[in-house]
Amino acid sequence: MTICRKLAIVCTFVLFAVLSAAVSVYAHDVRVIVNEEEVLFTKQPPVIIDGRTLVPAREVFEALGFVSHWNSQTGRAILLNDEYTIVITIGRMAFTTNGTSHLLEIPAQVIGGSTMIPLRAILESIGYHLRWDNVTRTVIISSTPLRAPMVALTFDDGPSLHTERILDVLEHYNARATFFMLGYRVERHRNTVIRAANMGNEIAGHTWTHSHLTRLSAAEIWETIESTSAIIMNVTGNPPPRFYRPPFGLTNNTVRYVSTQMGYSIVNWDLDTLDWRYRNADTIYRTIMDEITDGSVILLHDIHLTTAMAIERVVPSLIAQGFRLVTLSELMDYFYGELEPGRIYGRVYDDDLPHE
Ligand SMILES: [Zn+2]
Repeated sequence: MTICRKLAIVCTFVLFAVLSAAVSVYAHDVRVIVNEEEVLFTKQPPVIIDGRTLVPAREVFEALGFVSHWNSQTGRAILLNDEYTIVITIGRMAFTTNGTSHLLEIPAQVIGGSTMIPLRAILESIGYHLRWDNVTRTVIISSTPLRAPMVALTFDDGPSLHTERILDVLEHYNARATFFMLGYRVERHRNTVIRAANMGNEIAGHTWTHSHLTRLSAAEIWETIESTSAIIMNVTGNPPPRFYRPPFGLTNNTVRYVSTQMGYSIVNWDLDTLDWRYRNADTIYRTIMDEITDGSVILLHDIHLTTAMAIERVVPSLIAQGFRLVTLSELMDYFYGELEPGRIYGRVYDDDLPHE
């Protein structure tokens, strides 16, 4: 064998070792929640291999009430409870539950002395439900069916010509959104407002002319909120929800005081797309898909064509990932119950409160 060939073989091995190492990542930050309680991993944290999460079998199945046995001679982990016997063999692409064989997409393996298993197929074979939250990096496991994650798209500053294009998308996918409208625009785009409301979208107020509420007197704040609610009521036939969104999300003591007196809550957002700054459908799309999580309230503006273009991709992608697109009322009702007048939900930009 020539030096050259030997070198080539060594290089191939080194390259292989580097590539193998690159796909396996220790994931100390991955959390596992079983029936709402976090599982603690004392010996070995979860591992991500080829984009799939493997977790220590013993800790997770003990949290599920199983007893685990590990036989190093046969390379088998046996997980038992009154109902089920699960047999997982290290390195095999299949496992059995009560003798019935099921396929695995990635085999179980021993890492750091722990038997590491992929969860989804194994849990589903015993009727458990599993969800992966990409933002909080959490595997959520439940014995009862998990609620689909829900998010609220919110569109401020409209309605405008571009609102119709957004409504087309929502209608096509049977999704809902919330529109925080400016009072003076409601009059100009009556038919769009009526269409949005009839489709089951939520129409809420964003003041009459996008005022800086923190620069107004209590009487002026009251007037701009009240007149916007009145025009929404007039056009849609229904009173708006008992919340509104102040322009720029800005509040202070006076704004909160007036809101409390009027019985309104203030709902801002937690996912800011900065669509007004970027005016780029691709950037808006990627920001949402990277940051989305269960309960996200997404800030968008239906006065830009690029936002409408992004929505054409965002809505089908979110639905494909299992998200339900709901109105803000539905989302807030689930996460908070009855809203408190004068309280700020979402990000706080309050001149008189300590900032987050
Ligand atoms: Zn605005």
